[in-house]
Amino acid sequence: MDNYTLSPIGHIHSPYKQKFAIPRQPRLVSEAKAELRFCDEFNREEFVRGIEAFSHLWIIFRFHETAEKGYSALVRPPRLGGNERKGVFATRATFRPNGIGMSAVKLEGVEYKNGQLRLLLSGIDLLDGTPVLDIKPYLPYSDALTDASAGFADTRPETEMTVTFDEQAELFISDQKDYPELKTFISNVLKQDPRPAYKKKRDDQQSYGMTLYDFNIRWVVDNTHNHVVEITKN
Ligand code: SAM
Repeated sequence: MDNYTLSPIGHIHSPYKQKFAIPRQPRLVSEAKAELRFCDEFNREEFVRGIEAFSHLWIIFRFHETAEKGYSALVRPPRLGGNERKGVFATRATFRPNGIGMSAVKLEGVEYKNGQLRLLLSGIDLLDGTPVLDIKPYLPYSDALTDASAGFADTRPETEMTVTFDEQAELFISDQKDYPELKTFISNVLKQDPRPAYKKKRDDQQSYGMTLYDFNIRWVVDNTHNHVVEITKN
């Protein structure tokens, strides 16, 4: 067997600090903003010259948090409620041979500041620290296939989840002047219903937590309603 060694060209700095609650595909939550910071070898404007002409990019990356944990031939896609199995190559599962992921995300800007080259991205589905292996411009004429069919994932996942905020959470958010989209960001993450499939079948109220940026967010789910009960700073 041929073996290859890949090295990252850069890393993602993302508000998503743990896997739980990250949307399952890019662009489902447009307020999810991240930076791609280039490693030293690629930290030069030449590497991205002309890139700002593209509105979207493919980010090819390593599922670094799970890549060493192996894979199975069959996986249970969350879209099927977690009880039907499909071949790993018929899914976008994270546990896969070679641990490689790909996301088409929006390019918001290119910055070279304090000696660091960065791409500003939005609509990401990537964990903080994700190593990036390659970047390619998204080409609508070739990549946007309007007649494509997508089996069990044919449509954008929609939920009926609603979101409300406790008074403490509202006040906390209004104090975060550097994060003007924080409330919409939290709401849109929760509207995706990040709970694992087996928990969605339960009727009882359950409490969950996630970290976005350095904010710890706690919410309670009751049927199709999320209520954010508390937000604190790390
Ligand atoms: N769009 C990509 C693809 O199709 O290859 C990712 C799809 S995968 C289903 C999306 C999930 O990957 C996210 O919900 C998150 O839980 C997980 N994830 C994101 N970044 C990761 C990383 N660096 N390591 C492991 N899991 C990650």
